[in-house]
Amino acid sequence: MLVSLKEVLSLAEKGGFCVPAFNVYNMETAMGVLAAAEAERAPIIMQIYPRLMKEEAGYFLAPVVVAAAKKATVPVCFHLDHGPSELETTRSLRWGATGIMLDGSTLPFEENIALTKRVAETCAYVGVQVEGELGHVGTTKDTEMDPFTTPEDAKRFVEETGVACLAVAVGTAHGRYDKPPKLDIQRIKDIREATGGAALVLHGGSGVPDEEIRAAVKAGIRKMNFATDICYAFLDCCREQLNSPDCPVAVDNFMKKPINAVRDFCITRIRLVGADGKADQ
Ligand SMILES: [Zn+2]
Repeated sequence: MLVSLKEVLSLAEKGGFCVPAFNVYNMETAMGVLAAAEAERAPIIMQIYPRLMKEEAGYFLAPVVVAAAKKATVPVCFHLDHGPSELETTRSLRWGATGIMLDGSTLPFEENIALTKRVAETCAYVGVQVEGELGHVGTTKDTEMDPFTTPEDAKRFVEETGVACLAVAVGTAHGRYDKPPKLDIQRIKDIREATGGAALVLHGGSGVPDEEIRAAVKAGIRKMNFATDICYAFLDCCREQLNSPDCPVAVDNFMKKPINAVRDFCITRIRLVGADGKADQ
């Protein structure tokens, strides 16, 4: 069933686990993600980039995600990932998103608060909640990391913006890591405490060692994003098939294995963050 961001987050809070947020790029990745969620009876978030919410792609992909979520026998939130401005956040509401991220992390602190608050208010008119970002989570290609989120700033940000969850900078980055990242677990705990138990979000979950992920969930991460590893699961399988002598030519038949590769990867993450079996609680 299609549910709001608040609904999946409150399940996670109640059950002390983390909702995995999987980025989808086309119908096939959405099919793989949904198959994993249903196989594991896990509440999940399916999210897409703003570029895929633009007219030419959103017109096709957004209805696919909405249909998948509505058909699902587990709770699925349809979320915009990294919305940069009100243009993208508003457009995503029109496409039926039930969760919105406004990423103002590169703005000065006060501007980030003001914009996030405004978007949270607009989304609230249609019963949709917002994820904010404080402390910029960069990419694995950056030469150095931005300063980590402080508990004091996080407290003010959460109080003043009214976000449902907050993405924090605690040692992860977007992309493929050269060497495994070391997360600042104590900082996650401190931010949780300072914000009175706000739901925290970890971006750049691909490639983070399992034990770090478990510790992060224990410390209060309630949403964790996986994008890069979904792409690799899908593309590695496509490459392998293309190199095999019995490669199917009909595209739908070709896609069967990559869909299953996405499903198998997502199952490992669902179990790792403790979301398996939590759809029915
Ligand atoms: Zn991200």
